[in-house]
Amino acid sequence: MVQRFDLIIVGGSFAGLACARTAALKGLKVAVIDAKAEPGARVRTTGIVVKEASDDFDLPSHLMRKVRGVRMYAPNDRSIDLSAPGYFFQATDTAGVLRWMASEAERAGATLLFGRRFENAIEHERGVALPGIDLHASYLIGADGARSKVAEQFGLSRNTRFLAGLEIECEPIEELDRRFLHCFADSRIAPGYIAWAVPGVGVTQIGVAASRPEKPDLGELLLRLKTVFDIRNIRVNARRSGLIPTGGTLKHLGTNRVLLVGDAAGMVSPVTGGGIHTALHFGRRAAQLVSDYLGDRGPHPVAQMAREAPRFRAKMMMRRLLDLAPPNLLINAFLMSAPAKAVAQRLYFHARAGSVQSFEQWCEEFEREALDQTPPELRGPTLRVI
Ligand SMILES: Cc1cc2nc3c(=O)[nH]c(=O)nc-3n(C[C@H](O)[C@H](O)[C@H](O)COP(=O)(O)OP(=O)(O)OC[C@H]3O[C@@H](n4cnc5c(N)ncnc54)[C@H](O)[C@@H]3O)c2cc1C
Repeated sequence: MVQRFDLIIVGGSFAGLACARTAALKGLKVAVIDAKAEPGARVRTTGIVVKEASDDFDLPSHLMRKVRGVRMYAPNDRSIDLSAPGYFFQATDTAGVLRWMASEAERAGATLLFGRRFENAIEHERGVALPGIDLHASYLIGADGARSKVAEQFGLSRNTRFLAGLEIECEPIEELDRRFLHCFADSRIAPGYIAWAVPGVGVTQIGVAASRPEKPDLGELLLRLKTVFDIRNIRVNARRSGLIPTGGTLKHLGTNRVLLVGDAAGMVSPVTGGGIHTALHFGRRAAQLVSDYLGDRGPHPVAQMAREAPRFRAKMMMRRLLDLAPPNLLINAFLMSAPAKAVAQRLYFHARAGSVQSFEQWCEEFEREALDQTPPELRGPTLRVI
């Protein structure tokens, strides 16, 4: 017998689960289908989230670890430290976060159907039928990642430009300074992007990505890391790989009864490759739009999403420059310069200030509990009051 839902979401990861929870809380009858066996299976991401994402979505602190600074290495192993008082990134137990999000969505009333693959669907005036798996929805959301089958099935725009990423997860490396995300700019190892070593939640994650069609070189990265840390005895627990869309938000995001969101919609920073915060934000937003549309004759979700989604114009230009994979000699010369530092600072910490000295000083003062009571002069989020 066909099971009928108001909303079916294809993909039970960051975008899909954020969408499911909000839609269920809004009273829609929601189902999530995902091909993987359970929410925490087959993780394909490093899983670092910006502070704003952990704040906005109340992600549980026991599944995360704060990392306050970024140490950026040039190919000649010289490095600069970047930080901003009051700011941090969160390394996550990503499988744990996804399982927690799934339980939150289920608690809100969503039906989770893991182990079910979306293959095909038929759209009609009042909804979408999924004949292979006997489901029907008034609305369908494609949150099924960079190579979206939903986009293919409904003839929507599809991601065509990617970074290819590889990562190993190993036992914690004692020597790694746990205060930093360690990032390596090196066009030989990571043409068009960077390599990284992340002191994560009970593990160290080592990875590299490159702009396709170039290939990231994990072997070379490990040789390179040996010059910086003692990694002779690392024990690898897991390996993962994945594609990161870098072409920006796609043009045709939906049809009458179908909407793409998250990586499926290209909502990823073309420079940093960060897509978790946008997936969470627009996943939730998609639920609000569908609920307004189905229940209250609100604006059409596709048109409204196209208005709100990030365009990444400046970042697309930077991506074109990065795709040229500047020679290492140039990176060595440029990375230590003041303009390069300013660009990197802006990229990682947005408008917030910070410097090498202030990070060390800040750590010392923090440990002495000499907390500055003066509010920093930051541009914080504004709360609109009516
Ligand atoms: C190596 C790597 C490292 C990264 N590191 C970071 C990082 O540190 N920070 C950051 O912000 N971003 C990072 N990203 C990007 C980030 O992972 C993505 O932007 C984010 O996961 C997007 O979430 P999503 O829910 O849109 O899609 P995804 O997380 O890709 O989830 C898609 C879901 O759809 C399911 N699915 C796919 N096809 C089907 C189908 N046919 N039927 C049913 N289910 C299907 C999949 O099983 C999956 O669960 C990284 C990406 C990679 C590849």
